[in-house]
Amino acid sequence: MEFPQKGLPFDELKSDLAALKSDDMDWKSARAFSMVFRASEDVSRVVENALSTFVFENGLSPFAFPSLLRMETEVVAMTADLLHGGDTAAGNMTSGGTESIIMAVKAARDYAREKRPQVKEPEMIIPRSAHPAFNKAAYYLGLKTVVVPTSESSEVDLDAFGKAFNSNTIFAMGSAFSYPHGVIDPIEKMAAIADKKGVWFHVDSCVGGFILPFLERLGYRIPPFDFRVPGVWSMSADIHKYGYVSKGASTITYRNGELRKYQLFVYTDWNGGVYATPAISGARSGGPVAAAWSVMRFLGWEGYMRLAKDAMEATSLLMEGVRRIPGLHIIGDPPATTFAVGSDTLNVYALGDAMKLRGWHIDSQHMPPTLHFTVSPMHLKIVDPFLNDLAGAVKEVSLLKQEDISGEAAIYGMIGSLPDRAQAKEMITQYFNDLYRAK
Ligand SMILES: *Cc1c(COP(=O)(O)O)cnc(C)c1O
Repeated sequence: MEFPQKGLPFDELKSDLAALKSDDMDWKSARAFSMVFRASEDVSRVVENALSTFVFENGLSPFAFPSLLRMETEVVAMTADLLHGGDTAAGNMTSGGTESIIMAVKAARDYAREKRPQVKEPEMIIPRSAHPAFNKAAYYLGLKTVVVPTSESSEVDLDAFGKAFNSNTIFAMGSAFSYPHGVIDPIEKMAAIADKKGVWFHVDSCVGGFILPFLERLGYRIPPFDFRVPGVWSMSADIHKYGYVSKGASTITYRNGELRKYQLFVYTDWNGGVYATPAISGARSGGPVAAAWSVMRFLGWEGYMRLAKDAMEATSLLMEGVRRIPGLHIIGDPPATTFAVGSDTLNVYALGDAMKLRGWHIDSQHMPPTLHFTVSPMHLKIVDPFLNDLAGAVKEVSLLKQEDISGEAAIYGMIGSLPDRAQAKEMITQYFNDLYRAK
């Protein structure tokens, strides 16, 4: 594709954009269970106003845009309050959970470099259910990952977790809750083990951070997962998930400012001036900062609790409905608003495909094969039609023969059956490399 010679009129571009959207996942109808977290029209208006008001402002300079410095520090302080960080907590906003996690691992690595210079080959311990952003952080930052197995019900093997520590371990983590199955790791026990070894312990609340506190206050049983647990050094919490802000807004919070220092980048010898950034980005739009600040203040505890209640009610009804269908089960005992559906008798990928034909978008997961559900408040209105379609799809799939299975089911089956994981990785790398080319 060539660079255009002539420009196009605004109206034409506008209709091009609208047309391009037509093949996209329809998240507004609440028929999808991942990717977009939505509260209501009201909240969307608040987000859109904040984005357009600050879209061109640049978060790179806190001196040029004191507005953004003020909003970011207030977002971080409000988040720390939510997570019981107390007066000492310190943190920053980032572009997303991945960047927050990379910053936590980087801070832990640099902390260890200073405090434990004898460690030459640093390692980090993560449960199997940890988000791949930790593997990515390790890959970027030169750490070795030690992956601890999880049970059928997605529970971390605590014994294996304890035994994974050695003299090179500089970081360990648990999820509250995990993305794949929505299960909260035993944070108190894991943090206590790490604490005894003097190792940095991180809680990944990327998806849980902006819903668990509200569920707890609503009276749901949520085990301790935040800075109230001794031994928790840092936490990641995404505002662009259950904070209901558009993408580009996450937080990283440390127990104190001394730990946060290890995250910062400062270079004093550039001829462009003294250069300092808290996280990976250089220039960054003020939009997500303003949107996070606006939505948190628009909703407050009251608004977020109302939304958490709706999301939780929808989740309970969906999980009850799934459990009533013979052949389907829920992985583990998810306490919040994310769960995964597995089956001992059906091909769940084929079930996902059958649901897709009925207009539902459900992500497939593997090891074991499951379908993933992240539930938003908006799903409360689709519980009955969803469960009706699911019952119909289960009947249909239970009649399928193995050789009739195609689509996503076949692809996942093939990837899962490759005994050589390096081969699987190479195949996906090639596929991805080709995917990102203009057709
Ligand atoms: C979403 C998520 C992440 C990664 O966040 P991104 O915003 O996608 O970069 C990390 N951990 C958990 C538990 C998540 O749900």
